[in-house]
Amino acid sequence: MAGKILNRRDLEFQLFEVLDTEALTSRPRYAEHSKETFLAVLDTAEAMAEEKFAPHNRKADEHEPSFDGTRVSMIPEVKEALKAFCDAGFIAAAHDFERGGMQLPVVMTQAAFSLFKGANVGTAAYPFLTIANANVIHRFGSEAQKAKYLDALLTGRFFGTMALTEPQAGSSLSDITTSAEPNPDGSYSLRGNKIFISAGDHELSENIVHLVLARIPGGPAGVKGISLFIVPKFRVNDDGSLGARNDVTLTGLIHKMGYRGTTSTMLAFGEQGGCIGELVGEAHKGLAYMFHMMNEARIGVGMGAVMLGYRGYLASLEYARERPQGRAPTNKNPADPQLPIIEHADVRRMLLAQKAYVEAGYALCLFCARLVDETRSGADDAARQDAGLLLDLLTPIAKSWPSQWCLEANSLAIQIHGGYGYTREYPVEQFYRDNRLNPIHEGTHGIQALDLLGRKAIMDGGAAMKLFAREARQTIAEAGKDPALAGHAAELGDALGEIAATLQALAPVLATNPTLALANAVLFLEAFGHTVIAWIWLRQALAAQRGLQRAIAADADFYRGKLAACRWFYRWELPKVRQWHELLRSLDDTTLAMAPESF
Ligand SMILES: Cc1cc2nc3c(=O)[nH]c(=O)nc-3n(C[C@H](O)[C@H](O)[C@H](O)COP(=O)(O)OP(=O)(O)OC[C@H]3O[C@@H](n4cnc5c(N)ncnc54)[C@H](O)[C@@H]3O)c2cc1C
Repeated sequence: MAGKILNRRDLEFQLFEVLDTEALTSRPRYAEHSKETFLAVLDTAEAMAEEKFAPHNRKADEHEPSFDGTRVSMIPEVKEALKAFCDAGFIAAAHDFERGGMQLPVVMTQAAFSLFKGANVGTAAYPFLTIANANVIHRFGSEAQKAKYLDALLTGRFFGTMALTEPQAGSSLSDITTSAEPNPDGSYSLRGNKIFISAGDHELSENIVHLVLARIPGGPAGVKGISLFIVPKFRVNDDGSLGARNDVTLTGLIHKMGYRGTTSTMLAFGEQGGCIGELVGEAHKGLAYMFHMMNEARIGVGMGAVMLGYRGYLASLEYARERPQGRAPTNKNPADPQLPIIEHADVRRMLLAQKAYVEAGYALCLFCARLVDETRSGADDAARQDAGLLLDLLTPIAKSWPSQWCLEANSLAIQIHGGYGYTREYPVEQFYRDNRLNPIHEGTHGIQALDLLGRKAIMDGGAAMKLFAREARQTIAEAGKDPALAGHAAELGDALGEIAATLQALAPVLATNPTLALANAVLFLEAFGHTVIAWIWLRQALAAQRGLQRAIAADADFYRGKLAACRWFYRWELPKVRQWHELLRSLDDTTLAMAPESF
């Protein structure tokens, strides 16, 4: 295996010292769990990730799935790993005991799943898509649909997909054209083409359950006329047995830069007029159903980006400790031995940057997963609603910030390896290629920015932003009492002030000239993202200060490392937001003013 997946000490720090995950066990839903059962889940996940997922990460990249016109083939290790994952019950981990699940909090499932993502994103994608698919059917499917599909998905007999994108409709789902004609028996006949559908065909499971967005003819135009359908590869009889092949055809595999272990497919629905689907919930509400489940899916994307960054960070850390090269600036004596490159300040800069990006990205994704738990089992209605509001606001950041900065971490990991990092003999180039997907799928970086500035930051009179500011100010007040952190606390306070000033300046323009107000939305996404991460770092620093008081030896080094990474982020990164806010408030129209013909 090429290096460690993550720092387990960090994982337990996040769960038990920052997020107080153990407190969840006092809630009725998690009463049968304890810190010990949580740790046992992590142990199982870690062992399985290391033994079954990580060893074929490179092989799956080098031998991508192939299609001979009839069958999809891939290396056998993928199926073996997924069998182990399903047999261990991980697909149903968050579901009720009665459904065969482990009834784990989402923060624990995200923590456990992070290990599989770090080990092998390509193989891990199959069960994670299945989990997302099962969650939609669990939440919105009829009892009959649950009986037919849900148990089979939760045990891994069937795998699932999300089939939204069409060749002419990616970011703009209002333009999808796949149609669904009602049949007299209540089913629908689908016809249309989808592209980029991950895990859209393979022979890893008995059946594949596609969740397909399509239009019922005569429905409203745009997003209000999109419905959601269950379309299985093999039709399923009422007793759960498999029926005839449905008319879903793989028209080709897509060959990608990374994530090669996951099949990316072009699918034709109803070419022969025989593609039967079942409507989920009510007609025309398909997009709302899909988006309802997006929060968790997007935290999952962010976590995937974090884990690839984390792998690269640990690989480059190990390399930097071992690679001798050069001497101190003050030493010109060639007879002296060379220093390991970790001794050079610039290499430490690149390591600190990676540490600051990946550990904060990890903390943010787990924080958001914990918010999902609060929405489900929080103390009262007000607590659950607040958690939902904050989660809505932070989800674009949990998806976009790691996709951008943990990818940057992967670039730095290559840089630390020098020329070797650019070769296929070392793992870091694959981490970069795999991670490059994350700013693109599940809503591109630009689309996330429009959603944040155009909707989430200003909805209900800015209620979510005010809630975030309130939470951050509590952390600021606490950190302000610690002389070691008071400076950072004040800087975070300033960054919050910048956000408020920018939103105040942009609010009237959003109403009168949204094209201008939204032109630089990406800057807002990034400025808010950096502020959220600064807050996340201050929370970690507070926990590290508490830990330091009782820590000894190696543990003290761990906590000092946390404080150093926090300091790095406040010195090197947070000050950048001031310039971004100035540009935003100036309503800079350079991009809008550049005519397409002038390029
Ligand atoms: C490996 C991979 C796996 C995928 N898996 C799935 C899957 O399982 N299921 C599924 O349904 N889809 C999947 N997708 C599709 C993915 O969600 C889309 O590629 C993505 O939403 C972008 O759509 P597009 O490719 O059509 O790009 P476009 O929408 O054409 O975007 C191109 C560029 O234009 C920008 N842009 C577009 N519209 C606007 C706008 N209004 N304002 C500003 N900028 C804009 C975008 O930000 C982007 O930079 C996958 C894609 C890939 C590459």
